[in-house]
Amino acid sequence: MSTSSQQRTVTDRLVEANTTYAADFTDPGMDARPVLKVAVVACMDARLDLHAALGLNLGDCHTIRNAGGVVTDDVIRSLTISQRALETRSVVLIQHTGCGLLKLTEEFRYDLETEVGQRPSWAVEAFRDLDQNVRQSMERIRTSPFLPHTDDVRGFVFDVHTGALREVDPA
Ligand SMILES: [Zn+2]
Repeated sequence: MSTSSQQRTVTDRLVEANTTYAADFTDPGMDARPVLKVAVVACMDARLDLHAALGLNLGDCHTIRNAGGVVTDDVIRSLTISQRALETRSVVLIQHTGCGLLKLTEEFRYDLETEVGQRPSWAVEAFRDLDQNVRQSMERIRTSPFLPHTDDVRGFVFDVHTGALREVDPA
């Protein structure tokens, strides 16, 4: 519990904002299946407001985000549930200019090992070429044996300075 003598934390601020949100909230009565039958896989970057950038409303899509918007096993797990249990059909993949992963390398794992005495089992999934990484990510989705719907998978680069999407040719 925070007291008046302590600084409010950022979480306190979020919880307070929720009080206002909940006060005005009316239950839209939706079920869990996304209205547009689409799953969006994107980087966690704070400059990417997916709903605003894509004209999405509450209930429209599944949003699966991680560092880089890379297609890891866990993203495949979420997409598999999205398609098989919640009826989505399309996948939109969004990476972006100025991504933090463009500045990292797999050395990050070895640096971690040196520091904490244990090398992480996960790959950093760092990359140098954005378009190539989007292509690679689309390919991982298209070739996954778990996903029944891989005919509508499209990949884009979001420009954090202009707000514009650029589609990446899968070939
Ligand atoms: Zn990023």
